[in-house]
Amino acid sequence: MRILLVEDDSLLGDGVRAGLAQEGYAVDWVRDGRAAQTALASGGYDLLVLDLGLPGVPGLELLDALRRAHNNLPVLILTARDSVADRVKGLDSGADDYLVKPFDLEELTARVRVLLRRGAGRAAPVIRHGDIVLDPASHAVTLKDKPVELSPREFAVLRELLENAGQVLSRARLEQSLYGWDREVESNAVEVHVHYLRRKLGSGLIKTLRGIGYLVERPTRK
Ligand code: CA
Repeated sequence: MRILLVEDDSLLGDGVRAGLAQEGYAVDWVRDGRAAQTALASGGYDLLVLDLGLPGVPGLELLDALRRAHNNLPVLILTARDSVADRVKGLDSGADDYLVKPFDLEELTARVRVLLRRGAGRAAPVIRHGDIVLDPASHAVTLKDKPVELSPREFAVLRELLENAGQVLSRARLEQSLYGWDREVESNAVEVHVHYLRRKLGSGLIKTLRGIGYLVERPTRK
């Protein structure tokens, strides 16, 4: 899952980025409205966390332009404590949720999980796929009700594949969803994670389409 964070406050931005990275999300952080426009134009995000008080293009303007362009990206806005009017305007301009500063990182990550699962068309808090259950909140994975130990990266790859079951994900897409822009990624990182996931969850779950990417089939309904 890849998140674009738009926040001009260095301290807050750093904290939010670290908190989201801890949850296994790839976070691209920009500090003004223009850089946000450029990043959004490149696409590939699952969620936008948007501060409304920004230099350059104001957050509300950015949001408005996004929705006018029929972009359905889930948006969580960050607003100042005293600005009820901004919150209302933000929601009416197409934001899906808001947080008032200062906020707790735990609340932020919980709201992010809600928006990501809604974005994926899911209301249930856990992802079920056959005998596998993945809990995005606790990072627990079970296979036939038995816990499976996964590294944070393996967990993130599995979450991405299960959330997009039925779609082929390219290696580049998986790398981006794991590392964002600013990390050096070893060229075989994704292959290695997939290799271990197969060992732990069975070889049939993740299919390799040579030269195209990876696929987890849509679960068959029971
Ligand atoms: Ca600000």
